[in-house]
Amino acid sequence: MGYPEHLHAALEQLQEHLLQSWELSLHELRQENESLRQEIAQQYEENLQLQALRAELTALESERTAQLESRKHEAEKLRELEQQTGKMSQLESELQELRAAHQEAQEKEAEILRQLDVVKQQLEAEAAQSSRLTLEIVDLKLAHEKEILRLRGLADGPLKLNLPDLVDEDKQADPHQELQRLAYQDLNTGLPNLNLARRYLSVELSKTEKVTVALAILRLEGWSEIQVLLPDQEMQQQLLGQFSQRVRVCLRAEDVLASGAEGEFWAIFPLASGGPLGLKSATELAQRSLTKVLESLKSPFNLNDHKLLLNLWGGLAVGQGQVEVEALVRQARLAHQSAVSKGSNRLALFQPELERPAKRRETIEPLLRQALNREQFSLRFLPVVELSSGQIKGVEALVRWEHPTEGILEPAQFLDTACASGVIVALGEWVMSCVCEMSRDFRSLYWFINLSHPELMQADLARRLTRSMEAAQLNRPDYIVVECQEKDLAKPDARVAANLKEFRHWKIGLAVDDFAFAELPLKGLDKRGIGFLKISPKITQDLDQPAVRNLVKGGLIAAEAAGARVVLKGIENQGQLDLALELGCPWGQGHRLSGPLSWPELEERLKSRQTCL
Ligand code: C2E
Ligand code: MG
Repeated sequence: MGYPEHLHAALEQLQEHLLQSWELSLHELRQENESLRQEIAQQYEENLQLQALRAELTALESERTAQLESRKHEAEKLRELEQQTGKMSQLESELQELRAAHQEAQEKEAEILRQLDVVKQQLEAEAAQSSRLTLEIVDLKLAHEKEILRLRGLADGPLKLNLPDLVDEDKQADPHQELQRLAYQDLNTGLPNLNLARRYLSVELSKTEKVTVALAILRLEGWSEIQVLLPDQEMQQQLLGQFSQRVRVCLRAEDVLASGAEGEFWAIFPLASGGPLGLKSATELAQRSLTKVLESLKSPFNLNDHKLLLNLWGGLAVGQGQVEVEALVRQARLAHQSAVSKGSNRLALFQPELERPAKRRETIEPLLRQALNREQFSLRFLPVVELSSGQIKGVEALVRWEHPTEGILEPAQFLDTACASGVIVALGEWVMSCVCEMSRDFRSLYWFINLSHPELMQADLARRLTRSMEAAQLNRPDYIVVECQEKDLAKPDARVAANLKEFRHWKIGLAVDDFAFAELPLKGLDKRGIGFLKISPKITQDLDQPAVRNLVKGGLIAAEAAGARVVLKGIENQGQLDLALELGCPWGQGHRLSGPLSWPELEERLKSRQTCL
């Protein structure tokens, strides 16, 4: 069946239209497709380019990373370099410092060399001087030995150690040398004198650290008494000559023996060894020789048919290096003092402790000078007691120092310093005026005042005491009694003697303190104006010995004959008191009776009439 025409035409038209539209669409699609394809192709192209760019970028990035790495590396290297540069500059400045130090060291070295040159020249000069000195000493020793040999031929005649004889023997001698010899020789013994010994010591001590020198100061005990016993100078010289011969044989050839005044001898022991070993060896060497000297003194000396025993004290000090001569001498003197304090025939070696009192003196002296103005002194009163009744008959004024930090000091702790510094003069005057003032209330008592040697040397001492007495309106000067040591009364020098005369003139009482039957003759106590014999506590200690009791009896008889009173000091116990009473001692002092009292205590005792038994 077919479609109507018009349908068919419509269909055909539609078909055509559809076709056209389809073809159009297709065309469009194709075009679109084409543009898409082109777009894709372009995108592809772009993609490729992008990939290439990316690859390039990656390459660039890796290149950059590599560059960064290498920069980092370089930076590190740079830092390292910088560090090294820092170190370099530090090293450089160190180097500069080293260079400066080196230069300084070179300059110092040059200076030291210069100084060494000077020292060398000095040493050479000193060595020359030393050999000159040694020659002088050897010369003197030879002269001395020659003299001794010469004198041995005159065994029975009086010995003469006379310098002009020595000089005459060598008529060719240069007068200058002879003058030197006179200046360096002790005329009594013919030995080198202490000046020469000092010079010798100074040369030995200035040598090196490898030399040690021991110095012994020897003193004949009681030489001043021996001089009184042997008033003939020739006999004294004879004795000193014999003594020095005995010492000489105990020394080595290289040791030096020198002599000075007052029976003083120096033995010098040089030793070529340094350090602690040197000190030890020199000490031992000197001690051995000195012990031999002491041994040799056990046999007596013969003097014109008289036999005489000599005792000796020796102080030893050892030095080395740059020790000052005077320091060594001082140490030997301190050791000597220590030997004296130990008894007869003693040797003592210097110990640093011996210097302590001297050091203490240095520390207390300035304070002591101010103490009087600051009213730091006070007095204690030691009763002088009638032994039969126990009544207080007198009081001894004893000074005390109220030290600002050390409390109350006793005289033993400051009196030496007061004497050495001269403070004692003002202090003594203060004591005198206090005593005079206090004694006004107790006029029937004897008031004892101690006087030390420096006080006794003051020209107007007696006058000052009378002035204090006048000020206190005292009219019994004999009730003020000055106490002097036995040695000051036995052999007073001119100034002391003048004061003693003044005391007698003013009728001031005089007591001999610590009388030990040693120096002061018992005969003629009255002529010396001595009204009180105060017997030393050392005698009281030995009162149980019959010989000591006989001494005291002698003292009592002599005192009675001279109208003087005996006061036995240091009565410490009942036994001593009984012995004192048995002997008939009238008065005494000591702890058994009473210790030192303060002013109120004394006043109380006196007012209450309390006895001391
Ligand atoms: P000294 O003249 O022998 O005085 C007696 C000393 O013996 C006092 O010592 C006294 O305390 C002490 N004493 C008392 N009883 C006994 C005893 O039973 N046994 C012993 N062993 N001693 C006793 P102190 O006060 O220490 O005086 C010592 C020395 O100081 C005095 O000795 C005297 O020489 C001196 N002295 C004291 N005061 C002065 C002063 O004002 N001027 C001067 N120049 N010297 C003074
Ligand atoms: Mg006294």
